[in-house]
Amino acid sequence: MSSGQTGTSALPSTDPVDLKEQPHRRWNPLKREWVLVSPHRTQRPWQGQTETPAQPPVLQYDPECYLCPGNQRAGGHTNDKYTSTFVFVNDFAALKPDVPEFTVDQQGLLVAEAESGTCKVICFSPRHDLTLAKMDVPSIRKVVDVWAEQTEELGSRDDIGYVQIFENRGAMMGASNPHPHGQIWASRSLPNELVLELAGQKAYLEEHGTPLLSAYLELELAQGERVVVQNDYFVALVPYWAVWPFETLVLPRHRAARLTDLDPAARDGLANILQQLTSTYDQVFNVSFPYSMGLHPAPPDGEEHPEWQFHLHFYPPLLRSATVRKFMVGFELLASPQRDITPESAAETLRQAAAKRTT
Ligand SMILES: [Zn+2]
Ligand SMILES: [Zn+2]
Repeated sequence: MSSGQTGTSALPSTDPVDLKEQPHRRWNPLKREWVLVSPHRTQRPWQGQTETPAQPPVLQYDPECYLCPGNQRAGGHTNDKYTSTFVFVNDFAALKPDVPEFTVDQQGLLVAEAESGTCKVICFSPRHDLTLAKMDVPSIRKVVDVWAEQTEELGSRDDIGYVQIFENRGAMMGASNPHPHGQIWASRSLPNELVLELAGQKAYLEEHGTPLLSAYLELELAQGERVVVQNDYFVALVPYWAVWPFETLVLPRHRAARLTDLDPAARDGLANILQQLTSTYDQVFNVSFPYSMGLHPAPPDGEEHPEWQFHLHFYPPLLRSATVRKFMVGFELLASPQRDITPESAAETLRQAAAKRTT
């Protein structure tokens, strides 16, 4: 038995060697690919790039901010004087609704096709200085409701094949403005990550007769060592196959293919888990933790999708301090994703951060 088991584990480990010590690779059943884990490397000296942590904004309202209520945006539009959430079409959208049809295929090598869609921005709060971590649960619940409305409205359109909602938090993740906001990119095609996850979940259901992420959550709750925070409706955990150092996966306890399948109590549960998780992240290195996060509902194609369980991913870049980030370079770019600290050790660090948050 592995010596890496914690006292919270109800199931014995079936690991043949101690995964805390030995280089190994782990299987990501969602994307059906491997990740290399190199736990013995964490002691190596770091002489590479460090980043200066961005200072959190102090102004509740910034007259220069293009997302604050009542302000003018670069495109000439003026924001509503909104008091909770605010959604508008991105002035610099990557996708446009009206694109002429075309396809290119030369010997299967030069292949292209028209892609259309729409991009929107969602301001989470009128307060310039807040983040999800600093917002209260009822305010986050309003954001959850906007996410649900937008996925339903956009997903019901014939010209939309997927509605990807995400948030880039912090300058390190390319967020150009500290005002709390997320984005919606709704495209005609199913994007790459979703194509992989659809195939992974379908294959698992076919082979095992149970949805992948439902079976996975059951296993994680029984073992306990990768669980970070939880409530009656949702669980946030570091997935066994995590690539980013403090990557987490947020899973509903009950069957839900889409955000719109969640009843009001479950939506409150999601708002609560987002508050718990983001404020836990902020405790890890005592900074407003940067991340990319996103929602993964089943495609809005009118099918039931029994294989698909709704979930969210958090991909934070920080590795060993507020200023040292993980780079996806070299082997990761050319061969396979790789991580140093184990997912179990990252989960332990996050649980300690969660305890600091509540005491
Ligand atoms: Zn602002
Ligand atoms: Zn996913």
